[in-house]
Amino acid sequence: MTTAVSFRPRDLVVNEDGTGHLVGSRCPTCGAHYFPTRQVCAGCLTEDLETIPLPTTGTLYTYTVVHRSTPAFETPYVLGYVDLPGPVRVMGQIDAEPDDVEIGMTVELEIVPWGTDEEGTPLLGYRFAPGGER
Ligand SMILES: [Zn+2]
Repeated sequence: MTTAVSFRPRDLVVNEDGTGHLVGSRCPTCGAHYFPTRQVCAGCLTEDLETIPLPTTGTLYTYTVVHRSTPAFETPYVLGYVDLPGPVRVMGQIDAEPDDVEIGMTVELEIVPWGTDEEGTPLLGYRFAPGGER
């Protein structure tokens, strides 16, 4: 059996136990946070940004319900922006029925199967699910 790997290893670290976290950038000069990582700070143009693990629990900033998508995604699904402490805003699918989603709710990163690559290796991606401790 082939071990599943992160669909974007630079952006998503997956541990052996199936947990994981997103990877972002932090500016040591002005404190700005980014996801995905950046080479240059958009706020102060500092070039030596730190690569940091992002928190896995955040707050749903806003969302929409997607009714038409590519065949890879079963519709309808919820797509949202999640504010993680830093702060940094991350877009991702929300693992909940549309009627159960509410702006301001606490959500937690979850690692989920994300198809396969060209060689058939199972990939892991991320989405956010309601719950988690803040
Ligand atoms: Zn900066």
